[in-house]
Amino acid sequence: MAKEGKKKSGTSTRAWEAPASQLLRVGSDFSIGSFDAAATPGWSGGEKAALKRMKDVGEELSELQERLFAEGKHGGTRSVLLVLQGMDTAGKGGIVRHVVGMVDPQGVHHRSFGVPTEEERSHHYLWRIRNALPKPGKIGVFDRSQYEDVLVVRVNRLVDGDPWPERFGEINDFEREVAESGTVIVKCAMLVSPDEQLRRLEERLARLDKHWKYNPGDLNERENWDAYMAAYEDAIRNTSTDWAPWHAIPADNKWFARLAVSELLLEALQGLELGWPAADFDVAAEQSRIAAAKDAARRGVPSMRLQG
Ligand code: AMP
Ligand code: MG
Repeated sequence: MAKEGKKKSGTSTRAWEAPASQLLRVGSDFSIGSFDAAATPGWSGGEKAALKRMKDVGEELSELQERLFAEGKHGGTRSVLLVLQGMDTAGKGGIVRHVVGMVDPQGVHHRSFGVPTEEERSHHYLWRIRNALPKPGKIGVFDRSQYEDVLVVRVNRLVDGDPWPERFGEINDFEREVAESGTVIVKCAMLVSPDEQLRRLEERLARLDKHWKYNPGDLNERENWDAYMAAYEDAIRNTSTDWAPWHAIPADNKWFARLAVSELLLEALQGLELGWPAADFDVAAEQSRIAAAKDAARRGVPSMRLQG
């Protein structure tokens, strides 16, 4: 008889007042002006408890990711896409390392989106996004995303006219298509306060091991802070849909942001109700073969002779 594999870790949500997806979800009335980036909404446990909870979440994430991967190997079509948007220093890289890093890298498809290459620029802005979507069984991670084309592009007027309402519609339609094809989309806006950003930029300059992350252009982004925030607010209000809702992540406390995104990812995977694929071979027959091989090994018969 084959036993159930690893046991489910049975993590509790005791320290959360409600599911993170409810607590952090934002929509058409989202106001960035009244958003507190230092808050820890719904979590009363503090940092130490958060780190402990992260460990439990990580174990469950890891098992569910393996189930998703197994499903993908056996004809499944489902996947998960984590979209990370945020200003420089908001902690997107930390999410990739500390949250996504808790699962098997072979099941992760990570892609970051920078200034478009010449080839990318010759296509519609969603072209490079579509090409980077996760395959069945994978957890896709976007470090920046299609939203750059209604954020940096808008703030810096990199296209003519006022195509934003049209682009919001296009993005919504695109995401609906992606969701309907079996990809659960988890969108996280990592929102850091300008004071905390300044502190992090300063730290990057003060540390040799952080210079590689510093980009003099980051300060230009800062100089347009209000325009960026207005663009974020407008984008979030217009693209938070039932099939791809936005979550606003207060990112001044790295530990909270990491915990929050872990929970959102966990909820997404739990929602898939993933099992293990059934064996497509005769388990009992294989067990008999193994028993015979063990028996032969005990008697010193080379295993070669048992093959075929
Ligand atoms: P980083 O994430 O720090 O590697 O920086 C990538 C940079 O590329 C950021 O400044 C983004 O705003 C910029 N970027 C990403 N997508 C676009 C785009 N579609 N058009 C212009 N700049 C972009
Ligand atoms: Mg940067």
